[in-house]
Amino acid sequence: MAQVQAVEKKQMRTPIESGCPDGMQYMHPLMVKNFGNWMYHDRPRPGVLHHVAYSGDEIWTVRVGTQRQLGPYEINLLCDIVDKYGEGFVRFTIRSNLEVMVSSWDKVGPLIQAFNDAGYPVGGTGNSVTMISHTQGWLHCDIPGTDASGVVKSLMDELYEEFIKEEMPNRVHITTSCCQINCGGQGDIAINVQHTKPPKINHDLVANVCERPSVVARCPVAAIRPAMVNGKPSVEVDEKKCICCGACYPPCPPMQINDPEHSKLAIWVGGKNSNARSKPMFQKLVAAGLPNNPPRWPEVAAVVKKILYTYKKDARDWERVGDWVERIGWPRFFELTGLPFTKFHIDNWRGARNSLNASAHIRF
Ligand code: SF4
Ligand code: SF4
Repeated sequence: MAQVQAVEKKQMRTPIESGCPDGMQYMHPLMVKNFGNWMYHDRPRPGVLHHVAYSGDEIWTVRVGTQRQLGPYEINLLCDIVDKYGEGFVRFTIRSNLEVMVSSWDKVGPLIQAFNDAGYPVGGTGNSVTMISHTQGWLHCDIPGTDASGVVKSLMDELYEEFIKEEMPNRVHITTSCCQINCGGQGDIAINVQHTKPPKINHDLVANVCERPSVVARCPVAAIRPAMVNGKPSVEVDEKKCICCGACYPPCPPMQINDPEHSKLAIWVGGKNSNARSKPMFQKLVAAGLPNNPPRWPEVAAVVKKILYTYKKDARDWERVGDWVERIGWPRFFELTGLPFTKFHIDNWRGARNSLNASAHIRF
């Protein structure tokens, strides 16, 4: 009997640990050895960081731009370069730059040459335009109004020189968001989807596909109400209240808001998370209604480049885009960039005072 109990105990299932694995096991040995004991770092050239530890150890990090969405061919190619010219250790930054660590300056030149020969630029450090951060787009998410990764690839092709050089007044973080409600970040320059028409409802599908209370509760301005349409339970939208945010589409796909003509792109500027030199800032709308025009989005690229190069020319050293605009003022920003100032830039919406859906209360 005692034996049976022992066997049963041995077979008990152990909990499965989920989440990120411990990063220390993948780190370069010099980084593990000197963890938390770095004295200073500098940048010997664009795209290379040099860290010196109190122990006297030194490590060089080469930052490489990628095309963001990597297939097996690209991953094998990059790993072969890292194995042959580096020391087998890589990591990705949050903006999907590849970083390769080596313990000798002599290895840096051949490593950069190998990446360049394979078509991969080295840069993105210091006062450059680093890789544009983007949301998941059509690859992983179910609600995009555009393909953020496509916008990023087209723009980075155009801003290639600004990635490999450090010639901006300060670092420039550009972000993209493929819907209007979730992942849009605080970028120096941000490209975000902008829906301009309320959702079109396929009433035949609502009853089978959507949980109506969830959809009603999801609307930030309480514009959705349950309704019977053609004898079937459905919903209706008060189009005067609807702010075209797209929040109803994820829980209720029959409320389609994506539209090839009416889903546009908007440009926002001046956001930052950093509190160096000035407080973190929210981004502000500067261009609305730009065509969502794949595969190269030329209208968006033209506006982004106009803002970027005006900033490059006019800003003082170490001013971020938001700091620059704060100093010169918004009227001067529109004057210098030549962007039209329209009624869409005036934030006079007061609906939140009366109708912002700030509770889980369901309104019938
Ligand atoms: S921005 Fe919107 S559509 Fe794009 S990945 Fe985030 S949640 Fe999905
Ligand atoms: S969730 Fe957004 S898009 Fe949908 S009805 Fe409400 S305001 Fe309009």
